[in-house]
Amino acid sequence: MLGWGLIGASTIAREHIIPAINSQTDSRVVTVTGTDPTRVARYAHEQGIPRAFDSVAALLADPAVDIVYISTTNDRHYDPALAAAAAGKHVLCEKPLALSLDQARQMIAVCNSAGVVLGTNHHLRNAVTHRALRQLLADGAIGTPLAARVFHAVHLPPRLQGWRVDRPDAGGGVVLDITVHDADTLRFVLADEVAEVTALTANQGMASSELEDAVMGAMRFRGGVLAQFHDAFTIPHAHTGFEIHGSDGSLYGVDVMTQAPQGTITLRRDGNDELIDPGPHEDLYARSVRLFNAAVSVDGQPAATGEDGFRSLAIALAVRESALTGRAVPVEEL
Ligand code: NDP
Repeated sequence: MLGWGLIGASTIAREHIIPAINSQTDSRVVTVTGTDPTRVARYAHEQGIPRAFDSVAALLADPAVDIVYISTTNDRHYDPALAAAAAGKHVLCEKPLALSLDQARQMIAVCNSAGVVLGTNHHLRNAVTHRALRQLLADGAIGTPLAARVFHAVHLPPRLQGWRVDRPDAGGGVVLDITVHDADTLRFVLADEVAEVTALTANQGMASSELEDAVMGAMRFRGGVLAQFHDAFTIPHAHTGFEIHGSDGSLYGVDVMTQAPQGTITLRRDGNDELIDPGPHEDLYARSVRLFNAAVSVDGQPAATGEDGFRSLAIALAVRESALTGRAVPVEEL
């Protein structure tokens, strides 16, 4: 039985990751840490977690912890990841992996040299829809892919607004929150890397003035695909979507950029629409944990590695730089 320790008494852990870990036959949440002792004790009690600590060091000293899941605010991923690796614990870290590429590089290097697995919790590549899109592309269903469009503009619910909309120091803003997911999903489905990006950001009134709450842009992939994306916290009524257009057909994913196991895929060729059965939907977070447990136990790979987390962060930071400078920005290499 693998013991998971949660670094961060967070919403995402409560709503998705604790059930995902405890739904596996080979893992359980054994402890949680948070900075406010009263709050973390209450959180542990409410979530049925046996032990609560008010320091990361105490959690890492617990021999029952094999794996840590880091879901503190974005500025507090780096230090606990390094400490966990030094303590010999495997690390599943939330996205964005860190706030700078140097930090992300160091997290990868330290986990590698400690011989622990580092994963990034990019949930979307666990969706059966995105895995089906990747397979359809690889099978040549639409010929040569030429263009992609990602629609990931949502309305950020009030319970999630907090630091995302008013704390630049914590890594707030829509680019680090949502664009990183687009970047990872595009890389995964297209099996290609982004060479350069261009983008415009906006503040549409939800975020404080130093942060963006909307972004539109384009990515040029090395293989030639152009991908456009629209991410926002401010759009209440839109569907999410992921489209790929190729020389012989187009693929339309509707309602696929979500946390829920849902959405449809349609293949359009020669004016005919064919609804694709992608296979059974599985909870995205349960699959992420299942693959992480397997990576730790039998030397497999997590759904998204530390390197994947680096690359999505590199794309997101290039998007921000492009919006700031008004120029196309090359994406930094690992
Ligand atoms: P939360 O705001 O819920 O939690 C982040 C931290 O804020 C917690 O670790 C906690 O600090 C503190 N905190 C939370 N609630 C309270 C409260 N009521 N009072 C005081 N402090 C509080 O963040 P999210 O769960 O929304 O996001 C956490 C991380 O997960 C981020 O990195 C985010 O990008 C990522 N995320 C990923 C998703 C995915 O699908 N992959 C989806 C959502 C988020 P402490 O633990 O120190 O007490």
